[in-house]
Amino acid sequence: SGGMQKGISNDAVFSGYNRCCILDRLRLDGKVAYVTGGGQGIGRAFSHALGEAGAKIAVIDIALEKAKTVALELELKGIKSVAMAADVSKEEDVQRIVDNIVANWGRIDIACNNAGINMNSASEDTTLEEWDRTFNVNLRGLFMCCQAAGRVMLSQGYGKIINTASMASLIVPHPQKQLAYNTSKAGVVKLTQTLGTEWIDRGVRVNCISPGIVDTPLIHTDALKPLVQCWMNDIPAGRLAQVTDLQAAVVFLASEASDYMTGHNLVIEGGQSLW
Ligand code: NAD
Repeated sequence: SGGMQKGISNDAVFSGYNRCCILDRLRLDGKVAYVTGGGQGIGRAFSHALGEAGAKIAVIDIALEKAKTVALELELKGIKSVAMAADVSKEEDVQRIVDNIVANWGRIDIACNNAGINMNSASEDTTLEEWDRTFNVNLRGLFMCCQAAGRVMLSQGYGKIINTASMASLIVPHPQKQLAYNTSKAGVVKLTQTLGTEWIDRGVRVNCISPGIVDTPLIHTDALKPLVQCWMNDIPAGRLAQVTDLQAAVVFLASEASDYMTGHNLVIEGGQSLW
């Protein structure tokens, strides 16, 4: 399978060929990418980053208007893009977007499974509806996306899947009030490790990014607002993450420069998980 043969030899790197410039190896020109939850927050920043690096972007969101706005932003930067509506917790939606991207652009090189929700209720009050909704989007939906995009990538012999997990997969953010969320994100890491090792010998790499607390609309809900100040005291970096703090990581994991990485959880949290 082509994917595993693609590593650049030591000799090629040190002999001065232009194509081995490290910045060239981070380029994504001609690649086809999608980003779920791309209409806002981290997914919007991922869409811009991958597009600026050269990829065509399918911006996917449950809210079509948001996806369309981001696709327009990308077009204004000269990035080829399309907006698609999908609820990643629905099997038919997931298959439809994957089929549409392949029909339009012929392949999928980069699958950014980023859509996620956080319901944030005390564990003793968490309803099964909240638990199920959280898992249906954050873990079951992410699995369906990985499987549908992964099948395309396996048939190509090459692909990069980047899942958005969370620092909450590693630590219990204090003060804890997000049992279903934390547990679903721990599942994302284990799913990433399992797929990442199962598929790499057929050229498909699966990694995840675990952001700390990021300044996006997700954390400005009434439920989460009071917690933000507490969290600030737990961050060695002394500030929340901005979405721009995550952009280089997604380009790196989408690029051939990271071909020897799989099943990895790239934690970007200003040191918070270490305190
Ligand atoms: P956000 O709420 O700002 O944006 C999420 C986007 O996903 C929205 O545009 C929303 O419409 C879309 N979406 C929600 N449910 C969907 C569904 N079922 N199908 C398709 N799209 C859907 O959130 P964000 O902060 O940008 O978070 C993105 C990812 O990063 C999530 O997985 C989240 O858990 C994770 N994360 C966020 C933080 C943070 O502090 N913001 C920290 C760690 C991890």
